[in-house]
Amino acid sequence: MVLILDGKTHADRMLAVVQAGVERRAGMGLRPPCLAVVLVGEDPASQVYVRGKIAACARTGIRSLEHRIPAGTSQDQLEALIAGLNRDPGVDGILLQLPLPAGLDAKRALRGMDPRKDVDGLHPFNQGLLMAGQPGLRPCTPSACISMLKAHGIPMRGQRAVVLGRSELMGKPMSLMLLEEHATVTIAHSRTVDLPGLCREADLLVAAVGRPGLVEGSWIKPGATVVDVGINRVEQLDLGERIFQSDPLKLATLRAKGSVLCGDVRFGEASQVAGAITPVPGGVGPLTIAGLMANTLQACQAFEESK
Ligand code: NAP
Repeated sequence: MVLILDGKTHADRMLAVVQAGVERRAGMGLRPPCLAVVLVGEDPASQVYVRGKIAACARTGIRSLEHRIPAGTSQDQLEALIAGLNRDPGVDGILLQLPLPAGLDAKRALRGMDPRKDVDGLHPFNQGLLMAGQPGLRPCTPSACISMLKAHGIPMRGQRAVVLGRSELMGKPMSLMLLEEHATVTIAHSRTVDLPGLCREADLLVAAVGRPGLVEGSWIKPGATVVDVGINRVEQLDLGERIFQSDPLKLATLRAKGSVLCGDVRFGEASQVAGAITPVPGGVGPLTIAGLMANTLQACQAFEESK
């Protein structure tokens, strides 16, 4: 029987821990942590993500500040805003919602952020700390995935882990964190030869690719743990008919609503082979925001301890 790794439940637990931390601060007469969210432009998906982040702040008692600026904002204006937030002693965390509109350089903007406030863990300083195995602010999604795997007692030490995807947001940090947990890690990407064969060797398979249903059931080693990070909206019926053969509910939703969310893994097929698996939605998705709240509290506490 496959174990469904329920990200929502774990995210709720993480949020409760953050809330307790915020309340503890209040009991000591300390102000709540404060997260500044910067959203450039009108991208609908980004607006939904930002709403979710602001709601999580309200739920945990973290103060939030929203900076919505137009898509036509220049790089200099964006960097000036970030510099102002860096200087603001009342702001503990800065979240620059990605992707940025065309013409803006996200890496340059992130480099201008105070690494102590970089709650997405994407500043090169924090990436370096992760690389060096030192504590620091780490990317929210992979760190929350590791936390969920630990909470479920999923073994990582000595296990063969394969991470599909090498992005700075997900694939690379996830690989480093698994290495830190003493897994033997292989990173695969779009140029990897014989992806199915490689995946079949994995005791722990992490898919962070952004290709709906790329990973077939036959790619999974029996009993393996599968973490599906991909969030894809499928609208084409022919694609749905191919990847949802063992997932009649998804296919029915696609037919009825004209679109359906799915991961990089064919859940219906994979769950017949895997030992444990995250669903999409409800798996990794909710963990990201919980990780962000944890990082904001961490940034706030680290700031005060350094004074
Ligand atoms: P990304 O920056 O586009 O990176 C995708 C990676 O997948 C790249 O390394 C790419 O290889 C690799 N890739 C693409 N096609 C492939 C193929 N056919 N075979 C093997 N590898 C392939 O994406 P990302 O930001 O890491 O996000 C990945 C997915 O996770 C997306 O669906 C995203 O929406 C989702 N995501 C979800 C959460 C969450 O749940 N909260 C958080 C972050 C991301 P190359 O490097 O060779 O191009």
